[in-house]
Amino acid sequence: RTVYLNGEYLPEAEAKVSVFDRGFVMGDAVYEVTSVLGGKILEFEGHMNRLARSMAELEMTCDLTRDEWVEIHRQLIARNNIDEGLIYLQVSRGNAGDRDFHYPPEGTPPTVVLYTQAKQNLANDPKAKTGIKVISLPDLRWHRRDIKTVQLLYPSMAKMAAEAQGKHDAWFVEDGFVTEGSSNNVYIVKDGKIITRQLSHDILHGITRASLLKYAAEAQMEIEERPFTIEEAQSADEAFFTSASAFVMPVVEIDNAAIGDGTPGRVAARLREIYLDESLKSAI
Ligand code: PLP
Repeated sequence: RTVYLNGEYLPEAEAKVSVFDRGFVMGDAVYEVTSVLGGKILEFEGHMNRLARSMAELEMTCDLTRDEWVEIHRQLIARNNIDEGLIYLQVSRGNAGDRDFHYPPEGTPPTVVLYTQAKQNLANDPKAKTGIKVISLPDLRWHRRDIKTVQLLYPSMAKMAAEAQGKHDAWFVEDGFVTEGSSNNVYIVKDGKIITRQLSHDILHGITRASLLKYAAEAQMEIEERPFTIEEAQSADEAFFTSASAFVMPVVEIDNAAIGDGTPGRVAARLREIYLDESLKSAI
């Protein structure tokens, strides 16, 4: 595989980053994951805008222009022959010598890494037909979940805990209310209304979420942005989550309680279809 590292396209085995890099020793890095369908990049502007926001919140800088980002994405898709898959992008604060809690001096170049991951059945994911099962866990992450940092240890622990119980994922709960999934934004449907937590520092501002809510509003579907509990979710008609890699994914069980009749709901299925259609239209 050919990867991108700081201005160069390299075979993956030759792409090396310093052991002093703050992404490595401090988790001082931000990232994006973008889907590729039919060789085209989905939601490019959304991901680039969020990357810029994450970096600004952490006072990180990177002088790549929008056109340069496009070019890197396209080069990687072409060089790795990606028809369907993901592009992982990470910018860390780089390093200027020894490990130090203080940020390195201004002008220290960031470390920019991008690579592709070929995937089959991203759009035709069989899980979208069966739905997935989740457990709930307390949300033990830090309180700036709106910044997409690489500090993913707790979400990783949560996925392992879910798997140990034979489930697929975890929904996080804080102060009695669901925040989001371990790597996705979550929704319930009651009497045709789509309910999802409002944006704040408590959740990541999902790119898929923003587009999906826009498409749902255009389709005259009713949306309510407010927190909900696990109990409310368990007694909802439907549940689902969104993310750049899963699009819209039905959830059929929470903490061993079936949602609705325990099969993927009609609203989630329709939203998945709408999302794939619409996001492909604006793919570049
Ligand atoms: N919430 C968290 C914690 C995530 O990690 C992600 C994606 O990785 C999302 C939500 C969904 O965001 P997006 O739709 O931009 O992929």
